[in-house]
Amino acid sequence: MSGFSFTLSATDGRARSGVIRTPRGEIRTPAFMPVGTAGTVKAMLPESVRATGADILLGNTYHLMLRPGAERIARLGGLHRFMNWSRPILTDSGGFQVMSLSELRKLTEEGVTFSSHVDGSRHFLSPETSMEIQRLLGSDIVMAFDECPALPATHERQAEAMRLSMRWAQRSRDAFGDRPGHALFGIMQGGVERDLREESAAALRRIGFDGYAIGGLAVGEGQEAMLSVLDYATHLLPAEQPRYLMGVGKPDDIVGAVQRGVDMMDCVLPSRSGRTGQAWTRRGQINIKNARHADDPRPLDETCTCPACTGYSRAYLHHVFRAGEMISGMLLTWHNLHYYQQIMQQMREAIAAGTLEDWVAGFHAERAGGDIEPL
Ligand SMILES: [Zn+2]
Repeated sequence: MSGFSFTLSATDGRARSGVIRTPRGEIRTPAFMPVGTAGTVKAMLPESVRATGADILLGNTYHLMLRPGAERIARLGGLHRFMNWSRPILTDSGGFQVMSLSELRKLTEEGVTFSSHVDGSRHFLSPETSMEIQRLLGSDIVMAFDECPALPATHERQAEAMRLSMRWAQRSRDAFGDRPGHALFGIMQGGVERDLREESAAALRRIGFDGYAIGGLAVGEGQEAMLSVLDYATHLLPAEQPRYLMGVGKPDDIVGAVQRGVDMMDCVLPSRSGRTGQAWTRRGQINIKNARHADDPRPLDETCTCPACTGYSRAYLHHVFRAGEMISGMLLTWHNLHYYQQIMQQMREAIAAGTLEDWVAGFHAERAGGDIEPL
């Protein structure tokens, strides 16, 4: 009895809907996970994030270990209590951020030594230390420690990084041990190289995990390349466990991934866009700083039930963005997260009804007919 389970309730083509059960609550899939990098989904209260329909948040090991520190969070009762979010939390392993954000990195078989981008202090991350930090945080879904090479990367470099990640996956599995109610996910690597993806999936399946992530995508390869990897990558993973596509994405990326059998995704995009004046809607993207909105009494989307759309005009949102008021980021982030969760809810319902293909056609038709603006 692990206290963690995944039940598939419906399939439609390759798309799946189901429920992940954890001691901290259920996660309806396909699920979108808002990113709470440093113990907060920026500009949102936890209850507001929940009100958008989120069942689970993502926290970043790299950011939290550097500031305020995993031991401090553990002493204060764990990440859930610290950030006032009682539902499930997935933490990444720190592997991706240490490669993209830290300085003076030294990568060895053992792990990565690096300098903090915050204060320059030296730290060490390895499969064992990453498992320990994620345990101190109290994460419900723990990610194996991996290396995601920067693109462009040669086949040889991708192969080397993937094989190191698979050795680290075994060490992560060994260090994680047996923790009832907590899950450990392995991460498939291999870039856009099919032979490497196959080798990686086979290695992970031999080790055995509670769920399987697809890493190393959404790192600049473009949507077409990403979806063509997903065309075969989800087939390589066990059908009876959740599949998590890391760091994706734009609304149409998410829809394409769900159509290819992905169950979970996370991305900073809806919250980050909200702070830079970008709204995602069913009719495309709205750039609220554009002068054309200055006198527009309409909401962002007249069919949206979020607080930004029920209470405020585009003209007001334009004004508060231009004036640098904090409420601008708050309202646009709320709207974007609400829109993302609406897409997930509608896809879950369409999969259950066996009508996903029609829903996807409508999704694309509505966007094509809308007022999409360039970034
Ligand atoms: Zn809205």
